[in-house]
Amino acid sequence: MQFIDLAAQQKRIVNDVTARMKKVLDHGAYIQGPEVKELEKELSAYVGTDHAVACSSGTDALLLALMAMGVGPGDAVFTTPFTFIATAEVVSLLGAVPVFVDVDPVTYNMSPEALETAISALASGDPAKHPLPAPCKPGKGDKVAWMGGACPVKPKAVIAVDLFGLPADYDAINAVAARHGLVVIEDGAQSFGGEYKGRKACSLAKVGCTSFFPAKPLGCYGDGGMVFTDDLNLTEIMRSIRVHGQGGHKYDNVRIGINGRLDTLQAAILLSKFLVFPDEVERRQAVAKRYAEGVAASGLYVVPTVPAGYRSVWAQYTLAVKKAGQRDQVLAHLKDQGIPTAIYYPKPLHRQDAFAHLGYKAGDFPVSDDVCDRVFSVPMHPYLEAGEQNKIIAALLSWKPAA
Ligand SMILES: *Cc1c(COP(=O)(O)O)cnc(C)c1O
Repeated sequence: MQFIDLAAQQKRIVNDVTARMKKVLDHGAYIQGPEVKELEKELSAYVGTDHAVACSSGTDALLLALMAMGVGPGDAVFTTPFTFIATAEVVSLLGAVPVFVDVDPVTYNMSPEALETAISALASGDPAKHPLPAPCKPGKGDKVAWMGGACPVKPKAVIAVDLFGLPADYDAINAVAARHGLVVIEDGAQSFGGEYKGRKACSLAKVGCTSFFPAKPLGCYGDGGMVFTDDLNLTEIMRSIRVHGQGGHKYDNVRIGINGRLDTLQAAILLSKFLVFPDEVERRQAVAKRYAEGVAASGLYVVPTVPAGYRSVWAQYTLAVKKAGQRDQVLAHLKDQGIPTAIYYPKPLHRQDAFAHLGYKAGDFPVSDDVCDRVFSVPMHPYLEAGEQNKIIAALLSWKPAA
């Protein structure tokens, strides 16, 4: 049994993929070929934004967005600690400071109330109100400066994450951000194809970023990503940054940029995969429904909740045990039955060594700290057959909590 079965999908699309790859080999425009523009056009129409910028990964999509907004040293960027490292990594890479905000215990997405509290704690330099990163806490020797009560980093942006494919609460998050003059980025690396109040994921904030890593809902056969926005000015800056800060011509450089392009071959593969994508989104809904119907009534696990007006694209189907100590037992039991599982994420970002310099500690974000000890994901992909899925459900139901 596969955790994510990419082979079943490939079997379905192999002829079209091969034909499109052959076409690229024939025209030879491996960099910025016509397929890249075509993909940008198709996917921005699907998502419902005016513009799209294809790029080399989901990480670079976030990087392009932050760079285009001028995020750098002295800036604070609010995001959650219950996400993949890339979300906050790009903030640090630019010399800005991630300010973590806890997640909602039901959706696992950024809590708008916690965001409001974090912003006001930062403004008043009060770590008693909300855990703040090291530059904002009183340290040895800076007592006097500290008494001024201001944190040396200024609120600049918010990166909300659509975890496991479920959009965050953008009406609330955008409203909090707007009140404080902050710009919002949607990390839709897992949510391309999801919906929020009739709008598509990746169109829900000023800028939406997604990833085409093979295991994401829309994946290519390598690395890839895309940025979506209605803002033409940001789009032009991101297009320039994508190619070394290019100006009017190839060897005219007007800003510091990166090599962040999407390969033409990957764009061709994505065009092919996009043909079956809407059908795959429906199949994912059916799989999720079978899990919920099979598992929820047992009371053994917390099953995912999709609030009214939301649609998850189910990048992962993530259950939680009721007590932290139970997860190892469940995973061992499922392994015995031949069921593959994964843990997204076993450790929240505020406890990662990479962010030790921020000075956060265990317990700073109690919801994230707690769910990291309880969640586990079971096989989820559009081609999971009912028979196979029934085996997974039976294995989940046959686990007995130790007395
Ligand atoms: C996968 C992922 C990324 C990074 O995407 P890559 O294409 O792997 O660089 C960023 N944020 C989240 C939430 C992700 O799941």
